[in-house]
Amino acid sequence: MRVLLIEDEERLAQSLARGLRADGFVVDVAVDGPSGLAAAIRDDFDAVVLDLMLPGLNGFSVCRALREARVWTPILILTAKTGEFDEVEALETGADDFLTKPFSYSVLVARLRVLLRRATRERPVVLEHESLRLDPATHRCSRGEVGIALTPREFGVLEYLMRAGGRVVSKDEVLDHVWGAEFDGNPNIIEVYVSYLRKKIDRPFGLESIVTVPGVGYRMSARGPE
Ligand code: CA
Repeated sequence: MRVLLIEDEERLAQSLARGLRADGFVVDVAVDGPSGLAAAIRDDFDAVVLDLMLPGLNGFSVCRALREARVWTPILILTAKTGEFDEVEALETGADDFLTKPFSYSVLVARLRVLLRRATRERPVVLEHESLRLDPATHRCSRGEVGIALTPREFGVLEYLMRAGGRVVSKDEVLDHVWGAEFDGNPNIIEVYVSYLRKKIDRPFGLESIVTVPGVGYRMSARGPE
């Protein structure tokens, strides 16, 4: 099992790496956010152990960027901070588990083994809405037999709407999930992307699958009887 350890405290990183190697793990160490992120995207790890406070890019940003890059490697966040806020934020950024420092080495290994067991590399399921199909694993979109090329942002917006399963989602919600909470531009950018999407997935087929809910946001159209 190959583990990427992203931790800037050198002594902690060294001792964890030594322990994990002794327990049979293959361990790569990165000492800052950007190099950790690059390694996690480039190489195929079975799990990532991710410190929260890192130079360059913090653990939350690394986690979010990995999920946005469709890297589904299980992530265990190490945090020196305590409190419910961090837990929620960690889980919302796509982390699988977290551990508060100081922790015992045996607890870390136990948690890691749970994550590895759980990680049957579940691929996200293919999303369907009538004849529209969206496969997050391969990044493919099609309407019936027709393949549709989407940009990553278009794909992200459509995926978020389809995952909402008919629930109305606000522009802010889409922004948070597709652009990230750091985005501080105009939320109306969502309107632009929805119009791009309609030109690709709906209009050529004479359909209207993305419904505008004035003053609230968007939702996928109600499905007819199946
Ligand atoms: Ca740190």
